[in-house]
Amino acid sequence: MFVTHSFRIPYDPLIYKQLRNMQREAASVWNDIVREATSYFFTFKKWLSKSDIQAARKGSYNLHSQTVQAIVDKYDANRQTTRKLRKSDKKIKYPWKEKYYYCIPLKQASMDISDETIGIKKAEYRLSLVDFVTKKKKKNWNEKFPKRNEQVIIPNLAKEPLKNCKYAEIVWKNGAYWFHYSIKVQEKDLSSLPLCPAGADLGEIHAVTVATENKALVVSGRAIRSISQFRAKVMANLQKKMSRCKKGSRQWKKYNTAKKRIRQKSSNQLADLEHKTTKEVILFLEKENVTNLVIGRVGGIEKNTKKDKKKKSKTTKVRRQQLSLWNQGKIKQKLTYKAKLKGIKVEETEESYTSQTCPFCHGRHKTNGRPFKCSVRKTEIHRDVNGAQNIARKRYPMEVNTQLEVIFKQPVWYKRYLSKNNHNQLRCKSIARRMA
Ligand SMILES: [Zn+2]
Repeated sequence: MFVTHSFRIPYDPLIYKQLRNMQREAASVWNDIVREATSYFFTFKKWLSKSDIQAARKGSYNLHSQTVQAIVDKYDANRQTTRKLRKSDKKIKYPWKEKYYYCIPLKQASMDISDETIGIKKAEYRLSLVDFVTKKKKKNWNEKFPKRNEQVIIPNLAKEPLKNCKYAEIVWKNGAYWFHYSIKVQEKDLSSLPLCPAGADLGEIHAVTVATENKALVVSGRAIRSISQFRAKVMANLQKKMSRCKKGSRQWKKYNTAKKRIRQKSSNQLADLEHKTTKEVILFLEKENVTNLVIGRVGGIEKNTKKDKKKKSKTTKVRRQQLSLWNQGKIKQKLTYKAKLKGIKVEETEESYTSQTCPFCHGRHKTNGRPFKCSVRKTEIHRDVNGAQNIARKRYPMEVNTQLEVIFKQPVWYKRYLSKNNHNQLRCKSIARRMA
């Protein structure tokens, strides 16, 4: 299985300037491809094939030919997914926007990797003025585009050996350049273990609930929720203030910077918490020797509100905040790849009625409040644990255990986490206060 790891390229004015230029060049490759492929389509009503674009686009940019090819690959992949998505949603557009910067994709041939450094190859096609003047004086000079191969050297800070790295990207993120590289990691083999299914239920108050037949883990999502609520509140506040300013004015710009900074800080904090939450879950799954994990498909709520206009108008401010369920998508994604690395097979299933189905009498009850109560047998079970088990039951048989052991965990102990990350949190708050 391939995983992507990254490291931050330490700031060096020269390297950063070169990378910036390369990004611009990459953007111009992208823009040219988009423009030409689109106009080709409108004249001939046919798609320009990938190899045609690659042949036409090679050898005229100040980038390594493999990098240009990788950009074409990316364009083609983008086109394919758009085509697939457009079958269900006609609003999705093919790439059209002009870009000023584009990430720098690198294939194996366009990198020169040693233990200490990574050389990023690029071609320099344009003549310098000095070259031009001196060479033009010679009479027998007739070459058009003399190519000069150059390299941008960045330090190799990867923790793994990069010898077999086939693909990497240089990306601008959080005010710095990052080197993202994909490497092959051996998956664990669990085929010798007996089948042990578990279900996972993603929620808001309990970020993740996983349950096997006899044991369950509930990881709190309150820390995540508190950060997303804080962010939503501050963002709304700033947005309101910005609407009163003239767009582009000094005050407007101040608010905009504050907004960007808070968005960045909180998304870093959220990513951190998501990693910690999923780590707990994976540790639990490993300990219990789980072989198959069933996850419910999330995102139903968003769809309903989009479809049903009456419902949409009813959504209050609070509800809309809750609707930012993308968090769950991220947790699910992290959970999936981490489970895969441990050799656990991940399956998806639709989660209709899983929170209502009663394990004791096999009927359905509407739930009020936290514990799930069976009105027939007068027994109780943790609501989310029941949901998680029911999700697993959609694929595998699972007995009902009344002596189920439930472990409760926090991704972090929030108070200690706050004091440790006090700086960040306070900074976010102080920005918010200053702008108030
Ligand atoms: Zn019941």
